[in-house]
Amino acid sequence: MATDAKRKAELEEKLRDWVGADAGSCPAPDVVNGQMIRHWCAVMGDSNPVYQDAEAAKNSIHGGIVAPPAMMNAWTMPPFVPPWDDLAAEATDGEQELHQLFEQYGYTGVVGTDHDMEIRRYLRLGDEITASKVVEAISEEKPTPLGLGYFIDVRWIFRDQNDEEVGSLLFRTMRYQPAQEAMPVSSAAVSSVPTRLPPPKGHDNAWWWEGIDRGELLIQKCSACGVLRHPPRPMCGECQSLDWEPEASAGSGTVYSFTVLHHPQVPGYEYPLVVGLIELDEGTRIVANVVGCEPGELQIGLVVEAHIEKVEGGMKLPFFRPAR
Ligand SMILES: [Zn+2]
Repeated sequence: MATDAKRKAELEEKLRDWVGADAGSCPAPDVVNGQMIRHWCAVMGDSNPVYQDAEAAKNSIHGGIVAPPAMMNAWTMPPFVPPWDDLAAEATDGEQELHQLFEQYGYTGVVGTDHDMEIRRYLRLGDEITASKVVEAISEEKPTPLGLGYFIDVRWIFRDQNDEEVGSLLFRTMRYQPAQEAMPVSSAAVSSVPTRLPPPKGHDNAWWWEGIDRGELLIQKCSACGVLRHPPRPMCGECQSLDWEPEASAGSGTVYSFTVLHHPQVPGYEYPLVVGLIELDEGTRIVANVVGCEPGELQIGLVVEAHIEKVEGGMKLPFFRPAR
């Protein structure tokens, strides 16, 4: 519809002004300090002595206590919802305005999609950190499983008291029109319920998926030393030989380890989703979903057997079930 196209053009014109724009700054309310480091390490279960033990830290390459690098944005992180308290009163947040702009145009959904941190140096006790934010990029409108949306790259740059950059953090969010409200761009974009993501098939692993399609669970076996390996890869990790042959697995094995996923729920999968690391009787391991039993019944050592089944979208996958 013409009006929609016009509104979209209007939004995109405004977005262009945002690329490269300053999106606020936030001085750390406190200098880098031992108390916050101690809390962080306690929560994260990190017992590295260079973070807390003055004596050990002095004798390390750091020459003194340093903060865990992953704490970088903890020093300056403002509360998420204004009004901010006095400690963060100096903070400004232009990014909120950008988000409001998206909301005005119907992109009411928001989801964080990527997070990429770069560390230039370790922070030391007493460092004063300031974060400044720049809108680095805004994508074109893209169809996604959630709806039509724009990806927004915001980079936080962390600087110390000497204005030296000590690290940065790229945070990517997507603003989208929730699918039911979205205007179809093409018939492909409004297609049915999403299914499992198909596996990437390339020169080194297509043969394995072709085996699955025929109903065979194959294992890669080094032709030189006989060691089995999975997932498929070109070289033997034991003897570096590039020669290999496929061997059919009987599909029986035991649960070596497993995890039960509840969140985040990706379309195309049923939850709780049990992901097992299965030790095949032949002597190599494979990651696959374990089905046919309640997550609570699963245990390490459970004897399982493979079944190759077709999933929505027509793809075949190996699943493991408790052996009868
Ligand atoms: Zn080998």
